[in-house]
Amino acid sequence: MSVQEETRISPDWVRISMAAAIELGLKPGRIHGCNCGCINLLQNYPEGCYANCSYCGLARERPGTAEDNTFIRVSWPLFPTDLVAEKIAEKERESTVGRVCIAQVQDARAYRDLVDMTKRVHRAAPDVPISALVSAGTLNEERLGVVKEAGADIIGIGLDAASKEVFHETRGRGVRGPHDWDHHWAIARAARRMYGAWKVNFHVIVGLGETDEELVDLFFGLKGEEIAAYLFSFNPEPGTVMQDVERAPIHRTRRIQLAKHLIENEGLPREAVMFDDQGAIVRLDAPGVDIDDVTRSGVPFMTDGCPSRTGEVACNRPYGSYRPGEEFRDYPFQPSSDDVMVIEEQLRLDEVRGHGEPV
Ligand code: SF4
Ligand code: SF4
Repeated sequence: MSVQEETRISPDWVRISMAAAIELGLKPGRIHGCNCGCINLLQNYPEGCYANCSYCGLARERPGTAEDNTFIRVSWPLFPTDLVAEKIAEKERESTVGRVCIAQVQDARAYRDLVDMTKRVHRAAPDVPISALVSAGTLNEERLGVVKEAGADIIGIGLDAASKEVFHETRGRGVRGPHDWDHHWAIARAARRMYGAWKVNFHVIVGLGETDEELVDLFFGLKGEEIAAYLFSFNPEPGTVMQDVERAPIHRTRRIQLAKHLIENEGLPREAVMFDDQGAIVRLDAPGVDIDDVTRSGVPFMTDGCPSRTGEVACNRPYGSYRPGEEFRDYPFQPSSDDVMVIEEQLRLDEVRGHGEPV
């Protein structure tokens, strides 16, 4: 990080995704296929983040220096928080802003600054819904209430890892990180009680070392608690501990996306998904549901994220799971019929399709 960037810290300064910077007129350009309804903001401190997640470009002990950290430096330019708040208010007067998301990192100042930054945005544009994408370790129940009071209506939490073991290995003690699986769940459940059904979400990443079965069980569990799951795909970040780890094969990602959609929207019963002894999906029955139709709709493969005030997906995190020029892992727009043909090939549905019930 440059000396200038080191002194431009939160709460007075904030990083903003390139898509959002373009949307607000703070940077020139256009983002293909995105109407960028969500303005994603990220706290900035000289140390990046005090946590140590092995896949993250902000991690404390990442082998690359912050100076090399092109992901954050290039794609998340820094602006004064008040200017960003003003631009959000301006945009809201012209049309409407779908949502603002303020992401915390793990830092002693992060809670205090989240409250401050949320208030600034909320004061400038009181009708714009705000998500707080929190680092659970900075919070407790009382603090969740203060964040709500400041203007946030949704709490997002990076659980990222689908199982306790993978969490330990990528975010917790296994990588000298501060994160604790049980605390993440305790914060999610406290937020669920306070903010309401579907007003809390976990970010979940495919490809950190978890099995399909762990992901599927997580989706069922979260649905039961009315906590949303938003899916990301692991994409190795240069300069991180996991930089040489391969991504999940595309057919696996597609099957997980399809299973998640069927669980969340089509009432898929748990026994409809069968796994081999490695925990990989080997069979997917969907009684009474035409899986081909669901696939052709393209919807299971679209990016999911927090809604706008009218209930459409607002946050579609363009390039959250892939880089420009790479194949789409999730589509931040309705896939075209050509896109659906590609998806069908990738999915290789016949290999797992059930033959008992009509599908
Ligand atoms: S807490 Fe978040 S920002 Fe910090 S290292 Fe982990 S994933 Fe990265
Ligand atoms: S889905 Fe988007 S808006 Fe919601 S918490 Fe995650 S990054 Fe923020």
